[in-house]
Amino acid sequence: MHLDWGPEVESFRVELIAFLDEYAPPQTRPRRDFAMSVHDAEIIPQWARDWQATLFDHGWMIPGYPPELGGRNASPVQTMVYLEEMSARGIPRALHFPGYAIVAPSLLDFGTEEQKALVPAAIRGDAIWCIGMSEPNAGSDLAGLQTRAVLDGDRFIVNGQKVWTSYATVAEKCCLYVRTDPTAPKHKGISMLIVDMDTPGIDIRPLTHINGNADFAEVFFTDVEVPAANLVGALNDGWRITQGSLAHERAGLWVEGVARLEQTITGLVDLAHRRGVANDPIVRRRIAEGYQRAASLRALGYKGFTSFAQGSSAPEHSYMKLASSEQGKALYELGMEIQGAYGPVVDEERGEEAGRWALSFFVSFANTIAGGTSEIQRNIIAQRVLGLPRSG
Ligand SMILES: Cc1cc2nc3c(=O)[nH]c(=O)nc-3n(C[C@H](O)[C@H](O)[C@H](O)COP(=O)(O)OP(=O)(O)OC[C@H]3O[C@@H](n4cnc5c(N)ncnc54)[C@H](O)[C@@H]3O)c2cc1C
Repeated sequence: MHLDWGPEVESFRVELIAFLDEYAPPQTRPRRDFAMSVHDAEIIPQWARDWQATLFDHGWMIPGYPPELGGRNASPVQTMVYLEEMSARGIPRALHFPGYAIVAPSLLDFGTEEQKALVPAAIRGDAIWCIGMSEPNAGSDLAGLQTRAVLDGDRFIVNGQKVWTSYATVAEKCCLYVRTDPTAPKHKGISMLIVDMDTPGIDIRPLTHINGNADFAEVFFTDVEVPAANLVGALNDGWRITQGSLAHERAGLWVEGVARLEQTITGLVDLAHRRGVANDPIVRRRIAEGYQRAASLRALGYKGFTSFAQGSSAPEHSYMKLASSEQGKALYELGMEIQGAYGPVVDEERGEEAGRWALSFFVSFANTIAGGTSEIQRNIIAQRVLGLPRSG
């Protein structure tokens, strides 16, 4: 049996590969499968900004969008092929995702014409955005957020604190979620504001990851004035916007996580050979188990995508993020173990691959937290996929 996507889609793939061969910058090669773990001097280096703009200008930034938004009106299957090829090569679209993945679809769905005009720059990376959702007492329970905005004539006055705000130190704008009606039930009193990050009263304090990068921050707001025209959607209707993301890409995003697992397994096989443990039965079994899981996830991902492409829902996909982030953590840990005592040491002379395995292991915890923790994903599967009652 021969499975492929058909000639029209395969010619789309050929065109994409030709583009990548010609334009992908050297920094995206060799594979950046542990891109998140390397310590970049700059949070968003110039080469990544240039690459994002090049993708936009050639209609390869968000293929499913029209050309004026950096795409080429690609079909869902073509979009799947795009994500497959990019992730197989470990080529990132951008080193910051909020602008193109969250802000753009939210403003296109809910923004005024003036707000929609901000979208092309957000996708092209000309304007850097951050997302102000989480607070010290509102993460998994996002609807519990307390940062307060009070409407006063033609402006809001904002007071409160956000935390874990990725890219806040370099962002020009923030999609800020605020409480505008403290008397309403908690999901109903939230609004979303566009805030310029250089507005007086905003204090940004960088937070450092365990790998040394400081690409998120805590952000304090003290009597910050925001024009009323910066309200996105209706007042107190911000909860709907929190669900925003690239709907047409959602069914294919899993492929990036699976490709990263596959690349990690290839790296583990090389490492086992170099360290002389390729014959060790325990190491062999654990690498083979990882391979088996990655292969199962790929099959499950395509099964879900097929349902999506035929217009049905794909409950399988609620499992993909949980499984690939948890499996990634286990594989990086195995890489450290294979190196013995130097495994957790980030020492270019002694550790293998300049601390790749240790740094990736440290960062892999972030993937099990950001965008919904593993525990929350399990709750979602229990309730929405398996139909179990809410706990406690
Ligand atoms: C790398 C990274 C980047 C991030 N970037 C951003 C950003 O740009 N903007 C932003 O707003 N936020 C960002 N976040 C924050 C992220 O959204 C939160 O960390 C996440 O939602 C979890 O919230 P919390 O940290 O408050 O943990 P909590 O919600 O306090 O959870 C603590 C622990 O309790 C568990 N738990 C909580 N509730 C339940 C439950 N009902 N059932 C079972 N277990 C539960 C959790 O799984 C977790 O283990 C980022 C986080 C990371 C790691």
